[in-house]
Amino acid sequence: MVFDPSSRIQDYQVFGEFGDVNPSITDSSTFTFLSPDTMKELFAHEMEGCFLYSRHWNPINKYLSRALSAMEDTESAQVTASGMAAISCTIMQLCTTGDEVISSRTIYGGTYALFKNFLPRLGIGVNFVNINDIDAVRNKITEKTKVIYCESMSNPLLEIADIPALSELAHKHNLTLVVDNTFSPMILSPARLGADVVIHSLTKFINGTSDCVAGCICSTQEFIHHLTDINTGACMLLGPVLDSFRSASILKNLHSLHIRMQKHSKNALYLAEKLQELGIKVFYPGLPSYGKHELMKQLMNPGFGFGGMMAINVADEATSYQLMEMMQQERVGYLAVSLGYFKTLFSPPGSSTSSEIPKEEQEAMGLSSGMIRLSVGLDNEIEKTFERIKYCLEKLLLV
Ligand code: PLP
Repeated sequence: MVFDPSSRIQDYQVFGEFGDVNPSITDSSTFTFLSPDTMKELFAHEMEGCFLYSRHWNPINKYLSRALSAMEDTESAQVTASGMAAISCTIMQLCTTGDEVISSRTIYGGTYALFKNFLPRLGIGVNFVNINDIDAVRNKITEKTKVIYCESMSNPLLEIADIPALSELAHKHNLTLVVDNTFSPMILSPARLGADVVIHSLTKFINGTSDCVAGCICSTQEFIHHLTDINTGACMLLGPVLDSFRSASILKNLHSLHIRMQKHSKNALYLAEKLQELGIKVFYPGLPSYGKHELMKQLMNPGFGFGGMMAINVADEATSYQLMEMMQQERVGYLAVSLGYFKTLFSPPGSSTSSEIPKEEQEAMGLSSGMIRLSVGLDNEIEKTFERIKYCLEKLLLV
């Protein structure tokens, strides 16, 4: 059955306290009770519609969480202060000392650093694998393994994870499949494909205006209850609560996500095709020449394109730096990390967002030092943007 996440957001309706079309922003860290009995009851177990303290829950965070769980088609969700908080709380909830995670080796550098450098301090081991090699994943499973972790569309190589195959393997071994869907909101619906936990850095496409940092965890009601448990919940006890004002603004931006994703995808496909025609090596899931194009077509929801992220390879690091400086001068966009902004952003992943990954491992996974990652913006005249990039490439004698 065709799934349309945008229709979930269209149907999502919240009436504010006074019938406001935008629900009131929760401007309180704590909530009143009419009697200590109710307070006692609420500390003992969560009661729908009752709030005790904003680090636990508050109305606006609930509204945003509900909208995100509707979009990802999960029973529940919890918003967090960053994407990294969503990832670290999820793993810490699922794993304890002595446990192991099997992780894709092509993941965001911050996640890689958390897994490689931080989790071992807690006695949690991580095995990095080529997530597209299901046999390699299977071979890493031991009785200590608790989690398989990947990105649906990987940062920065844009590899597509075979979520149904990973889900089958995970569930056969009683493991939890955690998927970071930051690069492909609406385009891919990991929970519908078999993921148990879906994570987003809301900082990126979902918010879309590069003005805040936020995250979310979408999963079963049971898992979200575990995360918010006042005695044992990672979100409750580690405290990565999202500020209410940000929740309110992200909720508003979420309602235009479908239009933005369509435009990001359309522009990225245009640039990918044109740059490939010029003979540039392009990584983009929408190109038939791209290795995982067919898998992507099988997994994606129709109507949102292949996403706004692409990468290109030029000769070497120095050339990529020259090209990016020139592209910024020529108003292609900004030389900046992050993604999902209305302007085009470009950065050298090898020395920025993936710099945490050692050089040999970068090379082994196909991340070359001349790679530039682009988050293609919402330009209405993408032809003009392409002409500007072409001008830079020509000036540097790259085409
Ligand atoms: N996941 C992916 C795929 C990312 O690219 C990032 C950040 O770039 C994160 C998670 C972390 O998100 P945040 O910066 O919101 O903590």
